[in-house]
Amino acid sequence: MERTMIGEAPKRVGESVKLQGWVATKRDHGKLTFIDLRDRSGFVQCVGFQKMGELTVESVLEVVGLIKERPANMVNEKLATGMVEIDVQEYTVLNKAKELPLQVEGDGLEVNEEVRLRYRYLDLRRERMQKIMRLRSKYFQAIREELHKREFVEVETPLLTKATKEGARDFLVPSRFQPGKFYALPQSPQQYKQLLMTAGVERYYQIARCMRDEDLRADRGFEFTQLDLEMSFVKQEDVMKTVEDVVKTAIKTVGGKLKDETFPIFEYADAVKKFGADKFDLRTEEEKKDGTLAFAWVIKFPFFKQVDKGDVAEVRDGKSGWTFTHNPFSRPIDDHVEWHLKGEHTGEILTTQYDLVCNGYEAGGGSIRAHEPEVLRATMRTMGYSDAEIQASIGHMLEAFEVGTPPHGGIALGLDRHVMILAGETSLREAIAFPMTSTGRTAVMDAPAPVTQEQLDELALQIKKVEKK
Ligand code: ASP
Repeated sequence: MERTMIGEAPKRVGESVKLQGWVATKRDHGKLTFIDLRDRSGFVQCVGFQKMGELTVESVLEVVGLIKERPANMVNEKLATGMVEIDVQEYTVLNKAKELPLQVEGDGLEVNEEVRLRYRYLDLRRERMQKIMRLRSKYFQAIREELHKREFVEVETPLLTKATKEGARDFLVPSRFQPGKFYALPQSPQQYKQLLMTAGVERYYQIARCMRDEDLRADRGFEFTQLDLEMSFVKQEDVMKTVEDVVKTAIKTVGGKLKDETFPIFEYADAVKKFGADKFDLRTEEEKKDGTLAFAWVIKFPFFKQVDKGDVAEVRDGKSGWTFTHNPFSRPIDDHVEWHLKGEHTGEILTTQYDLVCNGYEAGGGSIRAHEPEVLRATMRTMGYSDAEIQASIGHMLEAFEVGTPPHGGIALGLDRHVMILAGETSLREAIAFPMTSTGRTAVMDAPAPVTQEQLDELALQIKKVEKK
């Protein structure tokens, strides 16, 4: 007999069917045992006469039974299959569940987060988490469809690569073949996507994983997923329009509600004056309650800022005391290119950066890029790099910019954050299947973990004793 999905049961009254799923709840009433069986399509009540008493909650079960209509007074309005029940004839336990370390019922928010993440495979069984995972998948699919309609090409870029400057510390991977040398995990595919413009792709996207060794917060993790895209022969308005259209359609596809059909645009200086920050929440109290998403753009950011001496990555990037605010590969606005090339008015130079904000969070950011080698070189000079240092760090980009690189620009959207906002959650970890704990340990598996002496020897690495802070 073929498997029937539980959601189909109301359409198959009078038939004998085979169901497979998990025992969500169990209630014993004398000789009758009731269970709610759960599969990916829903729940249904199954009734066993003088059987099923030994079943444990969350065991995996195969049931053969007759679908019966329930008498009118027994219909369970709360259940999509509440008008029927299964009269169990036979059943097999496919996997017996022992006593669970955490409850699968309920929203789980009262459970200690370390426990939820240690047993994430159980935590994800709860309805709330299943909904979020499916929302995420549907949102990504909608984005992909919109991009393909607009002739974007999905291209993957390397994970083992050289440091990219995104303003955070790199995660490093030691090389076994070249002891003492390291790869860096990408903080973003920034440089590769620009090289794809040199390569003539014209419209690139990737749902990319990025790794940044930063301090963890509820809305920031070590690794995250971004929609990374880049377009050739475009101006700032073109990228913003494309992104806005794609995001709007994808949000609507998953049932999200938008405050504005056209996202309002604020200049950075005005936003700071008006809201005290470049991330702000445009929703009314009413809109906050009904889950509205209020997107806006922020433009005309300063290109450079003074290095924050307490920020290791900034000190490393900004040797002159100046560092970029967003992206060293950005191009200044046209009016300020001249200053930029001459190294004048550094603090006043504005960049073509555009940030997307939503409900008080930064939801994305991008810019038109410097595609002329002298503009990128000027950026590095302003940050205090010598010619030799420029060559060592981004010489490959300068080389590519001398063999026919079109004007281009792009953006990256923080998709974990989009899903978090869409799901009405306030922690990024709720939007990710296997997120890290707040202390930077992996869910379920115990990493970071020590490695054997043999592995260290292979990599020619020696671990220094460090004092615990
Ligand atoms: N690479 C930038 C980031 O990841 C985004 C961009 O400018 O496209 O923040």
